[in-house]
Amino acid sequence: MMELTGKCFSVLGLARTGVAAANYLARHGADVVASDSKTEDHLPLEDLDKRVFVRAGENFVRAGDTVIISPGIKPGSPTWHLAHDRGSEVISDIELFYRLCPCPIIAITGTDGKSTTTSLIGKLLEAAGKKVFVGGNIGLGCMNGLEELGPEDIAVLEVSCFQLTHCPTFRPATAVLTNIAEDHVEYHGSTAAYIAAKQQVYANLGPGDVIVANGDDPEISRWAYPTGVTVRRFGWREGLDCWADRLETHLPGGIIQPHQGLKLKGLHNIENVMAAALATAEHFPAVLGALQSYAGLEHRMEYVATINGVEYYNDTKATNPHATTAVVNAFRDEPFWLLAGGHDKGSDFTELGALIAARTRGALLYGQTRTRLASSIPAGACVETMETLAEAVSRAHQLAVPGEKVILAPACSSFDQFTDFEQRGRIFKELVRALAQ
Ligand code: ADP
Repeated sequence: MMELTGKCFSVLGLARTGVAAANYLARHGADVVASDSKTEDHLPLEDLDKRVFVRAGENFVRAGDTVIISPGIKPGSPTWHLAHDRGSEVISDIELFYRLCPCPIIAITGTDGKSTTTSLIGKLLEAAGKKVFVGGNIGLGCMNGLEELGPEDIAVLEVSCFQLTHCPTFRPATAVLTNIAEDHVEYHGSTAAYIAAKQQVYANLGPGDVIVANGDDPEISRWAYPTGVTVRRFGWREGLDCWADRLETHLPGGIIQPHQGLKLKGLHNIENVMAAALATAEHFPAVLGALQSYAGLEHRMEYVATINGVEYYNDTKATNPHATTAVVNAFRDEPFWLLAGGHDKGSDFTELGALIAARTRGALLYGQTRTRLASSIPAGACVETMETLAEAVSRAHQLAVPGEKVILAPACSSFDQFTDFEQRGRIFKELVRALAQ
């Protein structure tokens, strides 16, 4: 494990993960300077350990320091260059956590399903009697959990492609690969760079380590893994280590789980269940009850209310076409209106547009992408565009008849009109509840 006393660190970016890293390092005797381009009044200074030397209103790197870089800093940007030019090395909080962690790590990455799978794995391990820390790109920044962990415990980390870009030696005991679709190209510059970042999760694995991989994903199926690693695959084909058909899931140890026995809805969630089951295979069947009772996370397939016989669902976390496709497919046999749109990441909406035309009663599109999204939906479908989510909700309220559903699954990130996907989801729920009054 890495010794910190007297070591010098520059923490770049003081959001959730930067604050947690700076505080941990300062508590353990490191010499820490932390900076952020935001000015003092916009920084959480009261949350920072007094021993952290703060430089607000600028990005600062002390020459020769180990740099802990925020996942928000784009590769190739001036701040990214500053880190690489002045620092001795540039790492993410996940890499720092790994270097200091006394226990095995299960790391979950992929385009969609990371948070659901991560929290489900956490629940299953708890049911198996383990002490677990769940964090990373979900909930608490990982450095907040480190002090609580001993050698017998397990850390379950959701790791984003942003964090993996700076994980040169990261070696989890188990790496879970949910799926790969187009996303975040505007951050990485190309799909190839996005994929390369995801592949870093298993780059340092070796004998004794485990990879849990989506066996149906065309991109993941092309990947070659380091020799000696145990690979467990899940998917929709008999013969994989964990497999499902439309009725039941064949879990580790030959336990057959009918889908009706699960609280999680949607075939995409069956994939998450299979991934979590393979990552915790040695604890079956003891964890089966926990698997059945797991109800998912807020903002994903979340039931909000029934108003005039119309059910409203919040899936604000569908921030790319792949996730929205999963949500549309989950409701495909029911009549529903889709609310979509938001910040333009340059995603290709062609396939989603065809699915919307085939499977929904209609699409109410708002935000920056509304026109581009509308033009991807084949003629003949019911499509309306409006400026805001609030207008889309009130239009859905006029159009939907009892027995139908209204689903927010935007296919876009939220930054054109909201601070993040969570704020968008909360506002959607408030708008829906206000319809009842
Ligand atoms: P992530 O952390 O990768 O964003 P989440 O579990 O938060 O994953 O889900 C993000 C979005 O993707 C939600 O809209 C959710 O309904 C959808 N989703 C969840 N699991 C999957 C999956 N396995 N495949 C496709 N979409 C999924």
